[in-house]
Amino acid sequence: MAHVDRQAWDVVVVGAGGAGLRAAIEAREAGMRTAVICKSLFGKAHTVMAEGGIAASMGNANEHDNWQVHFRDTMRGGKFLNQWRMAELHAREAPDRVWELETWGALFDRTADGRISQRNFGGHEYPRLAHVGDRTGLELIRTLQQKIVSLQQEDEREFGAYDARLKVFQECTVTRVLKTEGRVCGTFCYERESGRFFVLEAPAVVLATGGIGKSFKVTSNSWEYTGDGHALALLAGAPLINMEFVQFHPTGMVWPPSVKGILVTESVRGDGGVLRNSEGKRFMFDYIPDVFKEKYAQTEDEGDRWYEDPDNNRRPPELLPRDEVARAINAEVKAGRGSPHGGVYLDVSTRMPAEVIKRRLPSMHHQFKELADVDITAEPMEVGPTCHYVMGGVDVEPDTAAANGVPGLFAAGEVAGGMHGSNRLGGNSLSDLLVFGRRAGLHAAEYAASLAERPAVDPLQIDAAEAEALRPFSAELVEEDTGREPGPAENPYTLHQELQQAMNDLVGIIRKESEMFEALKRLADLRVRARRAGVEGHRQYNPGWHLAIDLRNMLLVSECVARAALEREESRGGHTRDDHPAMDRTWRNINLVCELADPQGDARAADAALGQIRLSRRETPPIRRDLLELFEKDELAKYLTDEELSR
Ligand code: FAD
Repeated sequence: MAHVDRQAWDVVVVGAGGAGLRAAIEAREAGMRTAVICKSLFGKAHTVMAEGGIAASMGNANEHDNWQVHFRDTMRGGKFLNQWRMAELHAREAPDRVWELETWGALFDRTADGRISQRNFGGHEYPRLAHVGDRTGLELIRTLQQKIVSLQQEDEREFGAYDARLKVFQECTVTRVLKTEGRVCGTFCYERESGRFFVLEAPAVVLATGGIGKSFKVTSNSWEYTGDGHALALLAGAPLINMEFVQFHPTGMVWPPSVKGILVTESVRGDGGVLRNSEGKRFMFDYIPDVFKEKYAQTEDEGDRWYEDPDNNRRPPELLPRDEVARAINAEVKAGRGSPHGGVYLDVSTRMPAEVIKRRLPSMHHQFKELADVDITAEPMEVGPTCHYVMGGVDVEPDTAAANGVPGLFAAGEVAGGMHGSNRLGGNSLSDLLVFGRRAGLHAAEYAASLAERPAVDPLQIDAAEAEALRPFSAELVEEDTGREPGPAENPYTLHQELQQAMNDLVGIIRKESEMFEALKRLADLRVRARRAGVEGHRQYNPGWHLAIDLRNMLLVSECVARAALEREESRGGHTRDDHPAMDRTWRNINLVCELADPQGDARAADAALGQIRLSRRETPPIRRDLLELFEKDELAKYLTDEELSR
C-alpha cells in the first residue's frame, strides 16, 4: 500500500457543525491539541440551516420559565422515553450556553427592553427560543467560528503558528475510527479534492457528524447527512439506541418537485401561522391527543387570544409537538382534504401585516418567492411532512458524552441518541449541540490527558481502511472477496435513489409490519449490490466515489431504523405503527439497541438475509424522584406503568 500521511493530535473532532465546533473549543481551551475535520467547507455545516432558534429557559419573554419547565416540556415532547439525565443537563445548562455565545459575539434579536428575544415554538410552554430572525444557525456557526479564529490568533502569538493547537481539515471525510486493543487511536480520512488518504492519530475522537436524512427521499437535510457518524460508531463497536425514532417535520415545501422537502420553519406557526385544509378548516383542533388535551386551546378564539395573553389562555394546537402535527397533516391529505400538490395550507398572510412577515420571517419570504413564486405575505404556503431529524444515535454516557463500550470515543449533537426520546422539540437541537458539544470536548480532553501512554495505530488497519475506500474503483474484485458470482457494476446514484425510495415508502411517517419486512429485504438486496458499486475516473474530486463510500453508512443506519421500527410494536413520537396505533406504557422504558452483527466490525461479512445489525432491548434506569415530582401524578399515569408509579 502507498504511504499514508500520519499526524498526531490529542483530540480529533469529526464534524464542524455546532456540536463539533463547541467540542473543539472546549478541548482546545483545556489545553489539548485539537483537530477538527469536516466533509464540507468550514462554516458550511448543516447547523447553518437552522432557522427558528435555540431553546433555553432564560425567562426573558415570560418570567415563569425556568429549567424545570423546560425539562418537563422536553420529556413530554419525547413521550418520556428521553434519557432523563441528558434532558436534565440540557435544560439546566442551555441558558449558560446561550449567554456564553453572546459574550463571544452572537447578535441575537432583542426584546423592547434590550434583552435576548425569545419566540414561541411547538411543545414549549413559554416563548423560549433565542433567535436571529429565521437565520439562527448561521449566527451560531459564525460566532463559534469567530471564537475558533480568536483561539488560533492566541496560538499564533504564543507558538508562531495559527494551527499549533487547533486545526481545521475542511472538505475531508473520515471513513473509519481506528482502534488498538479496544481503544480509540485515530481516524482514517480522505481529502475530497485530491482523493489523498491520511490518518489523524489521537486517543480521543468526538463524533459530531449530524443526522441521517439523506437515506430518505423527501428530506430537509443537506447532502452531508449520510449517517456517517452513526455508522462509524457502529463499525468501531459502539451501539446505537432509539433508531426507530425519525422526526418528520410537519412543514416542508411540497412544490415545485425540485425543492420538495425543503424546510418551512416552525417559527411560521410560532409567530401565528395557521394550518388549513382544502375546505379552509383549521383542522388541528380535531387532532389534539388525550395526553395534551388540557394544555391546548379547544377553540380558534382561545388559540388566537393566547398570542396576546399566554397566561390566561391555552396555546393553539398548531403548536403541538411535531410528530402530532405531521400525523395530522398526513391524515388530512389521505382523507382527500389536501392541497393540489399533496400538502395542506400554512397561512401567515391573513394573520400578520406584510412588513411584520418580512421582518420576522425573511428567509421564508425569500425561499417561497424564489423557489415557488409564492408571496407568503399575500397567499398561503403549501406544506407537508419531510424527514428532518433522527432522535436515535450513539449510546452515550449522559454526563461525559462518552460512547458506550469504546474508550476514547465520544459523541455529541444529532449523532448522539437519548436526549430527545421519541421526538425532539424544535429549538432543542441547537441547545443540545452547545450543552453536549461542550461536555464532549471537555471529557475527551480529560480522557486524553489522563492516559500515560497513547495507543499506537496499527499499519494493518490503515491498509484495510485504504483497501475498503478504494474498492469502488475495482468493483469486480469485491466479488472475489465475498465468494459470490460477479455481477454488473452498479451505479452508486441509482442505488442511492432506490434506497431513498424504499425508506420513504416503507419506513416513512406511517409504518406497518409487512412493509418493514419488505424494506429489510430490499435493504439486503441493495447491500449486496452496493458491494459492486463501481466508479470510473480517478480519485481527484470524484463525487460518485464519495457517494459509493457513503452508501455503506446509509445502508447500515437504514437497517437500524427498519429493524428497530419493526421491533417496537406501539406508536410513540417519531415512530407511528399503523398496526399498533396506540402508545403502550410497557414500551416506555425500553431502549432498542443496535449493534453490528459481526463484532469484528466488518460490515460486509454479515449474511445478507440476516442483515448486518443485531437488535436487543434494554431498560432505561428509573427517572430520579425529584424530577418525577415536577409532574402531576395524573400526567405520569399516562406514561408510566402502574409498577413504575408505585415504585
Ligand atoms: P451538523 O451541523 O450537521 O454538522 C455535521 C458536521 O459533520 C458537518 O461539518 C459535516 O461536514 C461533518 N461530517 C459528517 N460526516 C462526516 C465525515 N464522515 N467525515 C468528516 N466530517 C463529517 N434545530 C434547532 O434547534 N433549531 C432550529 O431552528 C432548527 N432549524 C433547522 C432547520 C433546518 C432546515 C434543518 C435541516 C434542521 C434544523 N434544526 C434546528 C436541526 C439542527 O439544525 C441540527 O440538528 C443540528 O444543526 C445538527 O448539528 P450537528 O453539530 O450535530 O451537525
